[in-house]
Amino acid sequence: MKPAPFAYRKARSLDEAVSLLVEQADARLLAGGQSLIATLNMRLSAPSLLIDVNGISGLDRIETANGTVKIGALTRHAQAEGSADIARHAPLIAQAMPHIAHPAIRNRGTIGGSIAFADPAAELPACMLALGGEVEASGPNGKRTIKADDFFIDLYETALRPGEMLTAIRVPAATAETRTGFAELARRHGDYAIAGLAATARAKGKGLSDVRLAFFGVGNTPVRARKAEDALAGGDVDAAVAALDLAPHDDIQATAAEKKHLAGVLLRRVAKQLMEAHV
Ligand SMILES: Cc1cc2nc3c(=O)[nH]c(=O)nc-3n(C[C@H](O)[C@H](O)[C@H](O)COP(=O)(O)OP(=O)(O)OC[C@H]3O[C@@H](n4cnc5c(N)ncnc54)[C@H](O)[C@@H]3O)c2cc1C
Repeated sequence: MKPAPFAYRKARSLDEAVSLLVEQADARLLAGGQSLIATLNMRLSAPSLLIDVNGISGLDRIETANGTVKIGALTRHAQAEGSADIARHAPLIAQAMPHIAHPAIRNRGTIGGSIAFADPAAELPACMLALGGEVEASGPNGKRTIKADDFFIDLYETALRPGEMLTAIRVPAATAETRTGFAELARRHGDYAIAGLAATARAKGKGLSDVRLAFFGVGNTPVRARKAEDALAGGDVDAAVAALDLAPHDDIQATAAEKKHLAGVLLRRVAKQLMEAHV
């Protein structure tokens, strides 16, 4: 299928992109195009204007300062995957990156596009939730910061307001006590996950504290399993699996019951990773 007709503008600055978004309420930003173009071709979306943001400079930087890693919205997945800074200071994102689609898609797809699109089976939204990250957005009323906990509202729905563009994400830089874990189950490597889990914790003696378990592919948004987090912090993996209170729906990949079972399998794998040192 071919997309419905649309106009195209290439924004040269953030202000220009925001002005165009405000002028044309049904406009869509075009970043890597790896999700947007598919939805246009399938006529799941028919915006009258595409605003290409690839010419806006300064939004593809990875910076680490004051205990925070900031990743610009236009950073390509492949750039993040190859970044020594991310490997060292944001190891959860480095662990997740090879699971996102295939190399050709990672060459074009952007961090900002993935977070803004908010696919419930995507890896990065779950990483953001597990890391307790923040999203930076710019709109007609200026800049604001949104916590990952408040960002993913419903299926493909985020806290971004009309006219806003996501400009960067920020996550806490890993310290010597940081533990991270990541696992997913997909039919073939590179496919969207049937179910996945991104997790962080802090080493505390021989145990863990501040456990954050963010599952993906098991709900309309990435979801935290808070009761299981408490049980895992207490060191009891069996209790953590028993405390999983996820409520997935059947989808084309698996039934709800299969997803619940897989969530338990993933939790055991990730718990093992969290109990080992990474940093
Ligand atoms: C075959 C295939 C397999 C894939 N598998 C996976 C996978 O396993 N895991 C996974 O996570 N992803 C997967 N993807 C999606 C891929 O990661 C995309 O790159 C990503 O979801 C969207 O990023 P993009 O830069 O291409 O965004 P685009 O396609 O350009 O945009 C997606 C949406 O986000 C909006 N948007 C983009 N940037 C911004 C911004 N800065 N601010 C506000 N809104 C914005 C656009 O307007 C559009 O609505 C797959 C894609 C394909 C084609």
